[in-house]
Amino acid sequence: MSFQNINLIKPIHRALSEEGYKTPTPIQKRAIPIILEKKDLLGCAQTGTGKTAAFAVPILQILYNEKKGGYKRRTIRSLIVTPTRELAIQIGDSFKAYGKHTGLKNVVVFGGVKQKVQTDRLLAGVDILIATPGRLLDLMNQNYITLNHIELFVLDEADRMLDMGFINDVKKIISELPSKRQSLFFSATMPPEIVKLARTILVKPVKVEITPQSPTVEAIKQSIYYVGKSDKKELLIHLLKDSNIESALVFTRTKHGADKVARFLNRAKILSEAIHGNKSQNARQRALKNFKTRQIRVLVATDIAARGIDIDELSHVINYDIPNIPETYVHRIGRTGRAGLGGVAISLCDGEEKAYLKDINKLISIPIPVIEDHPFVSKEIAKVIPKQIVKKPEQRKVKSKKQNGSANTKSRRNKRRNRNVWTNR
Ligand code: AMP
Repeated sequence: MSFQNINLIKPIHRALSEEGYKTPTPIQKRAIPIILEKKDLLGCAQTGTGKTAAFAVPILQILYNEKKGGYKRRTIRSLIVTPTRELAIQIGDSFKAYGKHTGLKNVVVFGGVKQKVQTDRLLAGVDILIATPGRLLDLMNQNYITLNHIELFVLDEADRMLDMGFINDVKKIISELPSKRQSLFFSATMPPEIVKLARTILVKPVKVEITPQSPTVEAIKQSIYYVGKSDKKELLIHLLKDSNIESALVFTRTKHGADKVARFLNRAKILSEAIHGNKSQNARQRALKNFKTRQIRVLVATDIAARGIDIDELSHVINYDIPNIPETYVHRIGRTGRAGLGGVAISLCDGEEKAYLKDINKLISIPIPVIEDHPFVSKEIAKVIPKQIVKKPEQRKVKSKKQNGSANTKSRRNKRRNRNVWTNR
């Protein structure tokens, strides 16, 4: 299926082909027609699935087709609320790229910087506003922004809003929206509080679920290094001395851990920076820029900090700590091997983490090869962790009664993974 099969207007087709997009991603295939039919949407998808275009393209098309006259200047007809500055900037860039032949204008507002540039842009008139919650409320209170004319509202990364403590701000924003509107709600996970919030926003929504990592897990070269806790640091330095590792995202469980790893890597002359929730927006933005422009080879991140960042060409993901939630492992390694490029995921496992590894093996259904020839190998740990601890997919019990009996093994496996992702987190 190509973009030709979706009923898109010429200015958007042109922009998409200039971007080099040929085929819609699964979420685009499913969500664009639903949004163009003016239905509310509940999208379970995260960054990396192409979800930005999945909502930006139909919003641009609807606004373009239903151009409103009669106002002295442009009024905000679509509002996208997203948790972080990085995401807001990325979404703004996407609207600009996909909408460049439509004549529609977008503005991005976020906190942590002076407001003057943003308010000047708002005063000049805007069709689409992309905002983080705090700055949006601030500018609404100062009467720079009113939401009276919003026709299309998007709440992006709702679960992350919850993690970051923005939920009350989001509720305040929603209370200011006109009741007659179309709403799109995106979240990577669906904990009960998020489901409750979605119910207050959406009217008869169509649900679209996409888990990008499951089908790509097989394409990623995974490996495990068993190592004593006290040797992890030296092993990481040893691995990163390999110049074949062009760019690595190193995951730690805690913010403190991320700082510690970045510090010892820098001391070993491996240029790295840490990003996590305690860092200022500017520091995170700078670290990300340095990583993308290859001024540093290694970015050390916590799971929450890494979720919103958009890095297309990432050769290696390294789990310095094994995550205690198996789905997090799948999310982490899915950061490499984007767009079918293949990638490498390395996990350093100490004795205390063996139970986590067991859960991961169960979830992904493929045993992860163990690297035994490295200078810090811990035979003790390797001994207590069976190498082949998963049954073949065919032998596993199908738990769900709803399981489609005619589906082939691979799609059954993917469905099972998807179900786990949405129910266990
Ligand atoms: P997103 O999930 O929206 O953050 O998108 C992830 C990445 O995929 C971005 O770098 C987009 O530019 C890219 N992308 C989105 N849709 C497509 C498509 N249909 N074809 C190729 N690349 C795409």
